[in-house]
Amino acid sequence: MVAEQKALSVDFGDEVLGPLRDAVLVEDSERIVAFANDAFAGLFLGGAPAEVMLGVDCGAAARRSAEAFVEVSAWIEDTEGIVQRREPVLGQRWQMADGRWVERDYRPRFVDAVFLGHVWVYRDISDRVTAEERADALAVELEAAAARQAWSTYRTPAEETIDAVERATRRGRAVVASVKIENLDLVNAELGREASDALLDDVPERVAAAVPGAHVARVAGSAFVVVANSDPHEVVARIHDAVGVTASARGRTAMLNVVVGAAVPPEGACDGRACLQQSRVALREARRTAADVVLDPAGLAALRHRDDLGLALPGAIRDGELRLVYQPVVRLEDREVLGHEALVRWDRPGGGTIAAGSFVPAAEILGIVPVLDEWVVDRAVGECAAVLDRAGGTAVGVNISGRTLNTPGRLVPLLANAIERHGVAPERIVVEVTESAVASHSAQGLEALRDLARMGLAIAIDDFGVGSSSLSMLGHIPFTHLKLDKAFVRGLDDPRVRTLVSIAASMAADFGADVCAEGIEEEHQALTMLEQGVPIGQGWLLGMPV
Ligand code: C2E
Ligand code: MG
Ligand code: MG
Repeated sequence: MVAEQKALSVDFGDEVLGPLRDAVLVEDSERIVAFANDAFAGLFLGGAPAEVMLGVDCGAAARRSAEAFVEVSAWIEDTEGIVQRREPVLGQRWQMADGRWVERDYRPRFVDAVFLGHVWVYRDISDRVTAEERADALAVELEAAAARQAWSTYRTPAEETIDAVERATRRGRAVVASVKIENLDLVNAELGREASDALLDDVPERVAAAVPGAHVARVAGSAFVVVANSDPHEVVARIHDAVGVTASARGRTAMLNVVVGAAVPPEGACDGRACLQQSRVALREARRTAADVVLDPAGLAALRHRDDLGLALPGAIRDGELRLVYQPVVRLEDREVLGHEALVRWDRPGGGTIAAGSFVPAAEILGIVPVLDEWVVDRAVGECAAVLDRAGGTAVGVNISGRTLNTPGRLVPLLANAIERHGVAPERIVVEVTESAVASHSAQGLEALRDLARMGLAIAIDDFGVGSSSLSMLGHIPFTHLKLDKAFVRGLDDPRVRTLVSIAASMAADFGADVCAEGIEEEHQALTMLEQGVPIGQGWLLGMPV
């Protein structure tokens, strides 16, 4: 190793690499840093001199430095994959946690077929990404302007509200709140049509009195818009006070179910129609979560990002942008590989790799996840034999969403067909469902799990301990594996958490199930889990998803 390191060592005063604007990091074959230039220090070390990198073990440091990136686990996995493959990679984009974007190249160094080490080159491309985003936004604005032009002769009833929004944003920080009475049908039934109409007619005046300076409009039967220049949470609270929680007529009382979605546009935002649309987005989210929502521009962007991801997913599946990685499940005592869990990854063209945790929730919310589950089941069952042959173990875990589990007649045929088509023994597949997924719709999901168990598949309860299932529920689930959520590993320093872990472990053992701790990153966590009676583990320490 010493000879190789020498062969690759670079003088820190190197005339070519030193002053380069691209950040350069050179590691020897054991991933010990042999050189870093000033640009590298500028990009990653926050002002420390490049020399502090000399001798650093990047294999270990990579995991710690991953926190600097938005896609932590994807970055670690990808880096380890590159180092193993030793093939050049050019122009990968990653976003840093501080918002900057970097592009990286990788070049393995071989001389006469002898591997000398790894060379990484990074560039800060934040300006380029900003320019691209700005160009995209301009294109959208131009399109919207063209559409407005086409409609300019037609004045909608909401036109006045749009003017009010534009006036308010010119005055300073504004809030645009969309209000909806959700249960109008019940109110009608309870109070009669006439009283209910009178109630709705009254709402604008009552809200206007409660929110000083507000513009209030009724935009549909039971939908209102409130525009004001006050604190958004205060406005939401006053709207509720003004509408009230009950309404009475003819000696009868009805509960009112009112939800508010409010948008806080950037000051001086001049497109009233767009601001109004943002408050509708907030209302949609409020109705989905059955709780008021206030969205500032950052919150709105996050929601858009989520929706964009979810909506792009079916196309991505069609275009082959998804792949599965496999993370080993390991016996803690001797680190023997017992099996693997399939985790889905999305390689977005020009957008880096996205881990499941960043897009599966979006797919769940938008109802697109069954398409994903179909793809994953077919792929995981199809790859099962090859994975076990190559990487050891006896079974492959496949994550299934709550929606697929609880849709009548969906999961069982999906798995049965895949198993038959690919000629896989059922006991080689572990169906992973989260405890909340089982708990939320008991009868349907439970029946599917019982059928799968009868067919010989193994059943794992995933993310155990943080969901909403009850202990009595567990008695009805035919589970063979219990996977303790990462939260337990995080909390191991607390004696009460250790007690909970050992209770869960002995309960699982009494049920005849294997218990596995997820998210083990450090040696001491593996040891403590063993001491608490958890014999199996999964996590970056024990094996990356590859
Ligand atoms: P999960 O099933 O509990 O999977 C474990 C998650 O923890 C994975 O994140 C994995 O990359 C990450 N992980 C593994 N070891 C460590 C560690 O040591 N430390 C930390 N901090 N994290 C670790 P990923 O791949 O982002 O998946 C997140 C969740 O998304 C999964 O949680 C699972 O519920 C869901 N999911 C993953 N793949 C699929 C899929 O193919 N279909 C469906 N429906 N859901 C999936
Ligand atoms: Mg899982
Ligand atoms: Mg889990």
